Amino acid sequence: MGKKSKDKRDIYYRKAKEQGWRARSAFKLIQLADKFNLFDGVTKAVDLCAAPGSWSQVLSRKLYMCEEIDAEGIVTIASNGIAPPPEMWNRDAKIIAVDLQPMSPLPGVIQLQGDITQFSTAQNIITKFNGDQADLVVCDGAPDVSGLHDMDVYVQSQLLLGALHIACNVLRRGGNFVAKMFRAKQNHLLIYQLKTIFQEVSFHKPTSSRNSSTEAFVVALNYRPPKGFNPTLLTNYLGIGKDNFDGLTGINKFIIPFIVSGDLSGYDADATYPLYQDDEPEYEYRYTEPVQPPLRVGYLDNSPDPEDLPMELPELTPQHIKEFNLPYK
Ligand code: SAM
Repeated sequence: MGKKSKDKRDIYYRKAKEQGWRARSAFKLIQLADKFNLFDGVTKAVDLCAAPGSWSQVLSRKLYMCEEIDAEGIVTIASNGIAPPPEMWNRDAKIIAVDLQPMSPLPGVIQLQGDITQFSTAQNIITKFNGDQADLVVCDGAPDVSGLHDMDVYVQSQLLLGALHIACNVLRRGGNFVAKMFRAKQNHLLIYQLKTIFQEVSFHKPTSSRNSSTEAFVVALNYRPPKGFNPTLLTNYLGIGKDNFDGLTGINKFIIPFIVSGDLSGYDADATYPLYQDDEPEYEYRYTEPVQPPLRVGYLDNSPDPEDLPMELPELTPQHIKEFNLPYK
């Protein structure tokens, strides 16, 4: 390691090595689960973007091998200090782990190799559930970051959309969804979108997630899609299939305007724009009188005519424009 390299062997790295987790990320799921009681009553879970498998390991040890993992991230094996023997494992627990990469097997975990943004992967997961539904879908997916923040946020959003598509198709009513996201300017839109199908939505950054990283996690609790919502139609957003939204009806059509309201190519109501747009250099700005002047309020019959008021506004001179840096020519 060169002198200037950042030492990544932090406390969670060391704990992961000591406790036998495949990656320090295990602590992120443990801390999220502790904060939001994510494992309560859960027997069926999907781990998206799972390799090398520390989240699947947590799910396997907690749901399948029935071990206790405390809030500090320390595995106490079981409350009596003895690991439950295989005959006490919960054979009803089903955990499906998906990643582009293969990973070493884990007890009670069915592995699928695939791309979570592909419809075929969603179908594969549904088949593996044999008609069952999941209680929990988690996704720790991350693309290879390019360093171009906007680009990274976009690619991460595509992963999140793929994960949401799968979650909506496999989650039972009341189920929960957790996914990695990057903190960015338009994050509030994500909350609004998820709130249409989950009761509670929040962002959370576990203490094991490095401060220097823009990663955080969106935690969406209590899946409760509106009546008539057809999650298979979300494939339209994945850019596959018909590539248009004409076939959508009822509540499914209602969801779309909500989502496209996040289109960022238009004006931003919070920004300031010059009266002359760069692409309209010939346009000449002309002042337009207000339809109803502020001094002539409609609800007062005898409000004075502004023309009669002894108030003279100074004329806007080129000097004002220069002095106050006004956006007029
Ligand atoms: N949660 C994992 C753990 O605890 O070991 C770590 C996940 S790692 C940060 C991100 C993973 O996302 C990588 O293994 C990568 O292969 C996977 N990934 C990225 N894009 C994917 C995609 N489109 N489909 C499936 N997996 C993807």
